[in-house]
Amino acid sequence: MINGKTVVYGIIGNPVAHSFSPAMHNAAMRELGINCVYVPFCPPPEKLGEAVAGIRALGIAGVNVTVPYKEAVIPHLDELTGEAKLYGAVNTIINRRGVLTGHNTDGPGLIKALREDYQFDPGKGPAVIFGAGGAARAIAVALARSGCPELAVVNRRFEKALKLAEMVAAATGTQARAFHWDAGDRQLEEFTRRSALLVNCTPVGMAGGAVEEFPLPGDLPGKGQLAYDTVYNPPRTPFMVRGARNGAVVANGLSMLLYQGVLALEEWTGLAAPVEVMRRELYKQTGISE
Ligand code: NAP
Repeated sequence: MINGKTVVYGIIGNPVAHSFSPAMHNAAMRELGINCVYVPFCPPPEKLGEAVAGIRALGIAGVNVTVPYKEAVIPHLDELTGEAKLYGAVNTIINRRGVLTGHNTDGPGLIKALREDYQFDPGKGPAVIFGAGGAARAIAVALARSGCPELAVVNRRFEKALKLAEMVAAATGTQARAFHWDAGDRQLEEFTRRSALLVNCTPVGMAGGAVEEFPLPGDLPGKGQLAYDTVYNPPRTPFMVRGARNGAVVANGLSMLLYQGVLALEEWTGLAAPVEVMRRELYKQTGISE
């Protein structure tokens, strides 16, 4: 029950009405029996600074940050964690006595999803990342820092792939190569065949979105590989369908969404998050059967 002592958390985005985070976090807070509430905030871009100042002024204990503010929010914060600095993006703000720290749980969320839900160790072998935007950046750094021995970044705009590969190599020492989104590239095919993990970090295959073909021969992703799609709507994406047809283990991005929330909640409260309660709520919200 909300009363005079209720602690407020939330999410900032625009739009934000579609977000599953309020339902997921409120279910977790109820389960933990803590006097907290998690609400959506949708400031217009020109009021983002005021919105962040409001977190301080009102003593809001923590917020998640989603599209399109993950980078724009940075100048308004007091400090960044190592993760947020490396990713150049913030998905979680922690308010400790008025000091706002920008953190990022997207990359670590994916790693936790791979380990917990798919028993996949990032050190198992090379990984191929499709896309070079915000999600790709977080995932590339997180994989490299979790023992992935070699990475390939594949993008339509080659310069962005190159920039990301160079950043990952410089920041982590992991070998990283850039490839153009080109189905005829033999070196990309060779790299992909010896990879353990393929991750789609583009909106390709998203409901109502782009339908481009992946720059891969028809038998990839294949047997012995994990094909992880950060997209989760539809729950069985075209990337997953082609992987499953070839005998790959396939996954959609709901587990990444779940674990980024788990890590944010644990960071805010210092309590172990009720993962299965959060997962159940997420599935309920998305209408996906487990
Ligand atoms: P972003 O920063 O806008 O980057 C989009 C990336 O996709 C860019 O590399 C872009 O290539 C590429 N791309 C876009 N349309 C394409 C097309 N038709 N063909 C090939 N490449 C295309 O976006 P983001 O924040 O990284 O998000 C990317 C995806 O990750 C989203 O679809 C979202 O669903 C997913 N995501 C999931 C989670 C989760 O928790 N599961 C979290 C974050 C994001 P160019 O550079 O060439 O334009």
